[in-house]
Amino acid sequence: MKTFKEILDNRHMYAKEWKAKTGGKVLGFYDTYFPEEIAYAAGVLPVRILAAHEPDSGTDRLMYGNCYCTRDMLNQFIRGRYDYVDGLVSVESCQWWYNAFDTTLIMFPHLFSHYLFTPDYPDGRMSKDLLRAELEVFKAKLEEWLGNEITDGALDRAIEVYNTNRALLRRLYTLRRFDRPVLLGSEAMEIVLACQVMDKAEANSMLEALIPQLEKRRPYEDWPRLMLVGSETYDTELEKLVESLGANIVIDELDNGTGYFSNDVIPLSDRLMAVGLRYLGKPHSALKDNVWRRRPERIYQLFEDWQADGVLIAKQIYCHPHGTDMYAVWKLLRERNIPYHTFERDTTLPYEETRLGVEALIDMIKPGMTRISGWSRA
Ligand code: SF4
Repeated sequence: MKTFKEILDNRHMYAKEWKAKTGGKVLGFYDTYFPEEIAYAAGVLPVRILAAHEPDSGTDRLMYGNCYCTRDMLNQFIRGRYDYVDGLVSVESCQWWYNAFDTTLIMFPHLFSHYLFTPDYPDGRMSKDLLRAELEVFKAKLEEWLGNEITDGALDRAIEVYNTNRALLRRLYTLRRFDRPVLLGSEAMEIVLACQVMDKAEANSMLEALIPQLEKRRPYEDWPRLMLVGSETYDTELEKLVESLGANIVIDELDNGTGYFSNDVIPLSDRLMAVGLRYLGKPHSALKDNVWRRRPERIYQLFEDWQADGVLIAKQIYCHPHGTDMYAVWKLLRERNIPYHTFERDTTLPYEETRLGVEALIDMIKPGMTRISGWSRA
């Protein structure tokens, strides 16, 4: 467990050492709709670009109005944290991510780059053929950049490594379903985030050794159980805050949490189609759920399966996909009498206001406390 934390904390050093060891290239990506398997099959290390909440280096002049996390991603490049990255890929997601991608490329034009269109309507009739065609273009561009063919054998190996990683993370999350979990929310999120910045084959070996030890671990106290919903995250500050208040986040519905590993690539002779179907079939993000509204039911299912007592909805400030999708989530939680608290993550402000709201939610769901209305307002 400590090693995952060390890799996450020292992720830039990890990638630099990986490059020195393998002679390979590093490709940065933002959104978990990026099909990492194809890059991995090319011998590239895909690394999720993470915000780190360092003092701003003037990004407000470059990306006015963006959510703070995308501004901080650009900030990370300006500060030289990602000086080892050889290329950057953005998929079709929210406008702020695209703005971060575009602005970074204007400032660092030497980077290999690709914009990968991933359909906004994952269940649309044309989506699978459309995405397959886009993956073909991406694969060809990668091959040209690297001067190597990405063979079916290499894709098969990459798919296997990634499917194994997803299966192991699912197994890890089942440890949080127990009445008294053996894993804290902060520990689980540290592992998932570390997996997004490291070589998955190495992550798999570490998880295979770690999970059996955790299965025998002494459980934590029977704390109130929370579910985390909302924009993607980059650290475990919120989980730690919840733990400091005597509660535990036992499950999440985040794109970079359960959304990252819930479904696998089902092998097909057409490898690109198989990879594309996995990304179309992954739990809808807020941005891609406007037509079907599947997120609320999925949130409810996870809430039930992990026996949560309440829901924390954490939206990154200025995150419009989650801002617009939140009403559908609120509606379901109110209809099912589920206590919740909504707040915006603003890393430029002290956590005190957040603490008060989280504390109020925990008080509401503590054993022996009466549920007054069943829900709370932000
Ligand atoms: S937090 Fe929201 S607005 Fe910002 S990049 Fe993520 S989805 Fe887009």
